[in-house]
Amino acid sequence: MPARQVDAVVVGGGIVGLVQAFLLAQQGTSVLLIEATPPDAATPPDAAAEPMQQRSVALSHRSCELLSAQGLWPADAVCAIKEIQVTDKGNFGSARITARDLNTSALGYVVANHSFEQHLLQLVSAQKNIELLQPATAALVDNSHSGVELLVSSAGGEFNVRCNLLIAADGTHSTIRHSLGLKLKQHNYDQVAVVANVECQFDHRHIAHERFTESGPLALLPLSAKCMAMVYTAHESDGEALKAMPDAEFLQLLQLRFGGKLGRFKAIGRRAVFPLSLIESESQTSGSCVLIGNAVRTLHPVAGQGLNLALRDVFALAASVGQSAGPEQGLARGLTDVDVDGTGRQQRADARRNIDLPDVLAGFERQRWQDQRGTVRRTDLLARVFSINTIPMGPIRGASLALLNGFAPLRKRFAADSAGLGVPLGRRRDGRSQNKVE
Ligand SMILES: Cc1cc2nc3c(=O)[nH]c(=O)nc-3n(C[C@H](O)[C@H](O)[C@H](O)COP(=O)(O)OP(=O)(O)OC[C@H]3O[C@@H](n4cnc5c(N)ncnc54)[C@H](O)[C@@H]3O)c2cc1C
Repeated sequence: MPARQVDAVVVGGGIVGLVQAFLLAQQGTSVLLIEATPPDAATPPDAAAEPMQQRSVALSHRSCELLSAQGLWPADAVCAIKEIQVTDKGNFGSARITARDLNTSALGYVVANHSFEQHLLQLVSAQKNIELLQPATAALVDNSHSGVELLVSSAGGEFNVRCNLLIAADGTHSTIRHSLGLKLKQHNYDQVAVVANVECQFDHRHIAHERFTESGPLALLPLSAKCMAMVYTAHESDGEALKAMPDAEFLQLLQLRFGGKLGRFKAIGRRAVFPLSLIESESQTSGSCVLIGNAVRTLHPVAGQGLNLALRDVFALAASVGQSAGPEQGLARGLTDVDVDGTGRQQRADARRNIDLPDVLAGFERQRWQDQRGTVRRTDLLARVFSINTIPMGPIRGASLALLNGFAPLRKRFAADSAGLGVPLGRRRDGRSQNKVE
């Protein structure tokens, strides 16, 4: 049977793949979206009935702006972060970063994963030019200058499909990346993240906490009034014990690590454990294929940047592809003026008629390099520095936090990074140069 033909295939229907498919479809691109898990496999407990069991993610102010501009923001399922308090257990020095530092209403938002995915799924399903195949998997057959061929396997059987553009959004263990022969750079932090929701005695007042402790960083993010999402980092050898520990014992441990700022920790939801590594593909593109999200890079969650960085890539990629296609090919509608990194570098359509997609993808990779490198460097530095406990690291961290708190330009810079505004020094949001974040 001859291969089917579509403009683009997106492999992986997590948040990143769903947003990417939607943006491409909005430009008139026909998209085949392939997701391995069956529709109901990922359905977590009902959000209203069991709020303590929901998983969530912190999205930056920039992610909110990008998603809102395309009608993708899940307005009902979010809680604003208006302040971030950074402390170091057992050492002096702390920092308060507020939305006022940036003159915005919030630094970011905590979003319930399941509600977000359901919201995106509904929007994707309403797009006539997206075909969602689930459960299904795709294997790479050919990747040449003229396009890509895949073998798709689903309950209905197998078929070949040819596309101009393949987007691998298939997560950390991406099989597409493996088939492309792209090598990985990897650093194991010897840590795990224990993730759960906790009920506190006091209201969170929209404050997120980042506390550095002897076994690694601990984050508490505001969810509903007295419920917070916890990311508790520990040595990898303690992961299983922390997961299996009785609730009361774990809450005691958490109280010891965090202190009494939120009163007593009263209850905890189901705990999940994730190993923590920095994993990066040596390249983001190969011919007409591009990796996106965890498929290209998996970060330590300490700064909550993985999905935020991926979303900036997703919007930039849609803009690059749309711009290159030109209006005649029906691909350049809607996304030609996206301000992806908040720098004011508006991306304009050049209305090229003959798309050389590998060239376009290489240009996209070059364009995204600075933001990607900066985000990886900051996240990796935070994860390493705040996990060292030898003297004199404690006092050095304390002094750094005191400096961060007291020195407004540094605080504003930190706030800009947290909010995903990532304004590179030397360039203003309106495109003119400057040397500080205003
Ligand atoms: C503890 C923790 C806390 C975090 N907190 C934050 C935060 O606060 N803010 C933030 O920005 N980031 C955070 N992150 C990072 C964030 O979770 C990830 O960046 C994000 O989930 C990546 O999404 P993705 O769609 O790329 O990958 P995934 O969510 O892994 O999705 C990949 C999808 O591909 C599918 N798939 C896999 N293989 C195939 C195949 N062969 N064929 C078809 N489909 C396939 C899978 O079923 C899955 O649905 C955190 C991460 C961790 C571990």
